[in-house]
Amino acid sequence: MLAHELRNPLAPIRNGLELIRLAGDDAATREQAQGMMERQVAQMVRLTDDLLDLARISQGRLELRKEQVEFASVVRSAVEATRPLIEANRHELHISLPPAPILLEGDLTRLAQVFSNLLNNSAKYTEPGGRIWLTVERQEAAVVATVRDTGIGIPGEMLSRIFEMFTQVDRSLEKARGGLGIGLTLVRQLVEMHGGRVEARSEGPDRGSLFIVHLPVITAAASPLHPTPSAEKKGFSPPGHRILVVEDHEDSAKIMEMMLKKMGHAPRIAYDGVEAIEAAEAFRPDVIFLDIGMPRLNGYDAARRIREQPWGKKILLVALTGWGQEADKCRSREAGFDFHLIKPVDPAVLNTLLAELGSAEGKPIDLP
Ligand code: ADP
Repeated sequence: MLAHELRNPLAPIRNGLELIRLAGDDAATREQAQGMMERQVAQMVRLTDDLLDLARISQGRLELRKEQVEFASVVRSAVEATRPLIEANRHELHISLPPAPILLEGDLTRLAQVFSNLLNNSAKYTEPGGRIWLTVERQEAAVVATVRDTGIGIPGEMLSRIFEMFTQVDRSLEKARGGLGIGLTLVRQLVEMHGGRVEARSEGPDRGSLFIVHLPVITAAASPLHPTPSAEKKGFSPPGHRILVVEDHEDSAKIMEMMLKKMGHAPRIAYDGVEAIEAAEAFRPDVIFLDIGMPRLNGYDAARRIREQPWGKKILLVALTGWGQEADKCRSREAGFDFHLIKPVDPAVLNTLLAELGSAEGKPIDLP
């Protein structure tokens, strides 16, 4: 079966090359051949990737590169990956996303893979011209994303089994749609590695299918490094905060300052750890974004010294760093940081973090 699935797309690719050669000036034929080859190459890539992932899973080597991710990016990337197949089948795709950003701690590529696998299945198991919906909703501390189609449906007794390795509902030659029965195994594995769950529903053959994915989201109150959320402990006056940006890379610092200003905050910059302590004492910020690797005094030591000051206890300290391992987060926690964000930080993450920082204690903010 594997040999069959891997060889299958190769035939149209090989013939497509020949067709392009024969087409000469016939632009329409060339374009058609090209489109067909692109779809087959995409199919090959998907199969190869799935197989490699399968090997990783069976050896327990599948790892996530976690960062803060905005769910809309996951959707965008998944839709981009499946659009060729959806268009080729003339399916109608409806996407609905809530307007407010939803943040997750996850691996963007892997999360996109979850939804491209689901969308891809919907496209494969739905007759041309059918409909597919991807609906995203925020439910408290979770995001619930549903992929629904008007396709061939799934018999009730198969609903839980389809997530098992190599399980396919119908292997008959007439029903073969290309695939090895590992897409959903990967979906479940990846969703669970993100702390979520997935389930399948269908009212039966020809009644369409529904896949529901639940994933935990980041809320400022749910993911600080310390058990007592600083956000509550501190209490600021939204929307604007006094923010000290500590960053030795001048352009990064300036961009961050400009962006924070546009977001309605009052930012100031310090270019190293020593300057950070002086500026913090004079400026008394609500929040400090601290880079870790810096000249003169690194971010960890600067954080420690700030925490030692009577005025430094209540400041929200956020580490902004390229280091994202568990050990790095541990060091941040020990140094007194409240949050540890990994560069490049999605502006939506900053926005949400700052927006969720509790309510006023009446500190006046003089925006320039
Ligand atoms: P593959 O699609 O490669 O066979 P998957 O693991 O992705 O493998 O799916 C397993 C099986 O579940 C499929 O073979 C198909 O029988 C069934 N299935 C998955 N998604 C759908 C869907 N949207 N509609 C109908 N059947 C589906």
